[in-house]
Amino acid sequence: MAELNPHFEKLPKTYIFPIIDEKLDAMRKKNPKKEILNLGVGDVSLPLVPEIAHAIQDAVLEMTKAPRGYGPSEGLPLLRETICAHEYAVFGMTPDEIFISDGTNADASSIQELFSDRNTVAIADPTYPVYLDANLIAGKSILLFPTTEEEGFIPRPPKEKADLAYLCTPCNPTGVAMTREDLRQWIGWAKENDAILIIDNVYSPFIFSEEVPKSIYEIDGADEVAIEMRSFSKAAGFTGLRCGYMVVPKTIKQGKLHAMWQRRTSAKSNGVSYPIQKGAAICYEKQTAVKLKEQIAIYQASALSLRNALTEQGQTFFGGVDSPYIFWKAPNGVSSWEFFDQLLEKSQIVAIPGSGFGSCGEGYIRLSCFLPKTTATKATHALHRLFTTT
Ligand SMILES: *Cc1c(COP(=O)(O)O)cnc(C)c1O
Repeated sequence: MAELNPHFEKLPKTYIFPIIDEKLDAMRKKNPKKEILNLGVGDVSLPLVPEIAHAIQDAVLEMTKAPRGYGPSEGLPLLRETICAHEYAVFGMTPDEIFISDGTNADASSIQELFSDRNTVAIADPTYPVYLDANLIAGKSILLFPTTEEEGFIPRPPKEKADLAYLCTPCNPTGVAMTREDLRQWIGWAKENDAILIIDNVYSPFIFSEEVPKSIYEIDGADEVAIEMRSFSKAAGFTGLRCGYMVVPKTIKQGKLHAMWQRRTSAKSNGVSYPIQKGAAICYEKQTAVKLKEQIAIYQASALSLRNALTEQGQTFFGGVDSPYIFWKAPNGVSSWEFFDQLLEKSQIVAIPGSGFGSCGEGYIRLSCFLPKTTATKATHALHRLFTTT
């Protein structure tokens, strides 16, 4: 009989979304008239920018005249060049260091294939789940290191030895963005330990604080130790279209990594759909870029509105400044799930229990600020009412 991958047994058993759906159903049955404010799912809520839709449509129609066939595994040259020119040429990088994929989830889970089973992979607790799940399935040794309220949920290099570290900045779920100084510490750690940093930077467009770099490559030495992942998902509403990219610098100390990723990509991928890549490329055109900025500004305004409400109520929370997430400490020391129930019951607000992202998320809940203005306003009022009625 075929033997199954035993590492699957190590995956966390409780998946939180079915539990949330169950609780939501019960709430709807009890109060069919009350509007539920969904601040749970980390997904975009504004419509796709029309220019992107048109670029995709044009690309498909082009194919009715002549077939496109397979494109290069690592991505359309046009898209790699465009991304490079707008984001990475300033760091002296070239288009062949940028690899197009169908999203950061795929990149974050595949990159570990380049590393030996003997490595230890450092992952922050709480974490965006894919880093942990993918490395568990692959049978890697994992060092979960705590990020804590005392450190403002900034991940700090672990004392224990590790060879790879995943860092999500700005972070989902904590909403915390790492400063230049924070990242400098990690680059120093990576150099001392001959380790590689894997930076999930999908929320880069949400950064506006001076002290938070938009890319790790703004910091000296980062190109020797860091791989950076970005996505059009949250930046341009591509969650349902699928396109992302990963930078594997040729200057990285483990010099074979670039060639290995190239080899791995040509072995395992036949590339991303041509129309989607054309839609991604149009994001850099001025008119589209302006509209995308306006969408991000709407999400940022939602975050500000929720943060102000929480501050006024004397609540403890993190994030929501350079990211669309707020990590809110449950008042009175209640658990994540207890607070989830309270919020749903009293305010019809759905949030994600922090404990779903790791044990260090216990006692917190994550609010998503991917909200159109009307929803943000309703949620802000609901938060005010929550405290005046209790
Ligand atoms: C949403 C999200 C992703 C998913 O990116 P895709 O490009 O849609 O796969 C990756 N990382 C983080 C931290 C996210 O929040």
